[in-house]
Amino acid sequence: MSAPLPFNSYTRRQVLYFGAATALFAPLSAQARVVHAPAGRTPWLLFPLDLSKFRGVTSVFGPRVLGGSRETHKGADFSAPNYTAVLAAREGKVVRIGYGRRSGWYVKLDHRRWKSVYCHLIADPRKSGLKEGQNVGALQQIARVGSTGRSTGPHLHFGLRNPDDHFVDPLKHLYTPAETLRLTRSYR
Ligand SMILES: [Zn+2]
Repeated sequence: MSAPLPFNSYTRRQVLYFGAATALFAPLSAQARVVHAPAGRTPWLLFPLDLSKFRGVTSVFGPRVLGGSRETHKGADFSAPNYTAVLAAREGKVVRIGYGRRSGWYVKLDHRRWKSVYCHLIADPRKSGLKEGQNVGALQQIARVGSTGRSTGPHLHFGLRNPDDHFVDPLKHLYTPAETLRLTRSYR
């Protein structure tokens, strides 16, 4: 099951547009420069945060112990202050905006049957004009970081579902912050 094409194989027009120029051209935070990339990556998703505010990966995909109980963490956690811009990892369609007891406010995007999900957002993104059914461009701002739902501090939980509807390790599909900056610069 192959992922959509890598970002750099698209023409600028195919990618629609970049909605987050201010975030893109801010410098990388010190933490963003040292994000490691797991082996065997096939990146096609851009890093979904304002890179000048990103403070590091605080939890990766897989089994973990939280509050004394074992669970599977179905995404990756990216630390950033409240109100940091959350960006669409690729062009896609908003398929769901909602609130869950665990996820808090969340947005789900469809990218040709793969779905990315953005959780613990600070508020209902519909209040900022985002709508279900709307198309978004790669790196268009969709929401802001918060700590709603089951969360111990402001961060973005980023999840990725494959076309079989299984959660997979998003870090295997994400470009690193430095790669994201390099790629998006080449599109200006
Ligand atoms: Zn998480």
